[in-house]
Amino acid sequence: MMQNRLFSLFLPLLLMPLIRVALFKEVPQVTVQGYQLYVKTPEPRPIGYHIDDPAHITATDDGFAINSENFDYPFIQIGAEKELIDVDGKKVDGKIEIRKTPNGKLLVLNELPLEDYLIGLIHGEISALWHPEALKAQAVAARTYALKRQQQKASLNSSDYDLESDIADQVYAGMMDDPKDRIVQEIVAATKGEVLWRNGLYPAYFHSCCGGQTELASRVWGKKESSYSVIDPFCENSPQRKWQLRLSQRDFLNQLKSHGLEGSRIKNISLERYEEGPRNVMVIVETNVATLFIGATDLRRILGYKELKSTWFDIDWSPREIVFTGTGYGHGVGLCQWGAKTMAESGKTYQEILKFYYPKATLRKLY
Ligand SMILES: [Zn+2]
Repeated sequence: MMQNRLFSLFLPLLLMPLIRVALFKEVPQVTVQGYQLYVKTPEPRPIGYHIDDPAHITATDDGFAINSENFDYPFIQIGAEKELIDVDGKKVDGKIEIRKTPNGKLLVLNELPLEDYLIGLIHGEISALWHPEALKAQAVAARTYALKRQQQKASLNSSDYDLESDIADQVYAGMMDDPKDRIVQEIVAATKGEVLWRNGLYPAYFHSCCGGQTELASRVWGKKESSYSVIDPFCENSPQRKWQLRLSQRDFLNQLKSHGLEGSRIKNISLERYEEGPRNVMVIVETNVATLFIGATDLRRILGYKELKSTWFDIDWSPREIVFTGTGYGHGVGLCQWGAKTMAESGKTYQEILKFYYPKATLRKLY
């Protein structure tokens, strides 16, 4: 705990923070490939205790099995003597750590320097071929977000790792090991240590496309965090601007059934919108037996964040199907990636892009 407090106090003095990313959670098996793989255990072993490549790792009652050899420890670490290692198709730098979950499955973590993490992240979130100023803005936002998550998790004392590697946090694709990495590397280095700041690390959320207006954090997560809704004319030509989701009535009811909605037939669906702003607060579904009030953000979680792309939508329904017609992709808070892309292409710097999406935050160099 003391360490955590020190971490918060001295954050501005950090030289090069490390970050722990969850690569895979609750998987029964993982395959690691790399040049001269070695394993490290909590108990000392001969240095360079090599294992066969590829290494298939599963959980056992007392620890882990790597290929057919047992390692009875609470966790193991695996690295390679040279180059990146491949973990079920994700290329990662540094060591990975494998832990057992309470369900007897595997949690696979990667600890790496934050600046390296940002390089892989930009590949996962957006394309390395985007305008450099848009990528720099993304790098600053993602660095701030990652450090803030780390701080929050440390103060909650809650977890083995800082970040998920999927849509729940930031999309981490691993390293790509190709020339585009060098471009991204230069972009990340150009903003090294820079974060968004307002009485501490700023909650620097970002998303794919706001659809024309960004959203307040409190409306998405219900927590009081500094945020600002801006009218965004820049993402108008984004491919994510307009979308449609069509579900059969049966499929829709089935998905809601697991969340407490009873009934076999829809009688009505209505929407409750925010007074100011285009997004929905609540979706009200009436069936022949019950009425369900469901938060629009919760509905995204249930139907899938990639399917119901935002909470900015209209619904048409018939006895056969439910049609969502929507605008934008993502929660809508903070930086809009497609808007940032257009801003950069029209000559705006990354500082100007950040000022536009985070008007309450200032830029600060931590290391
Ligand atoms: Zn936008």
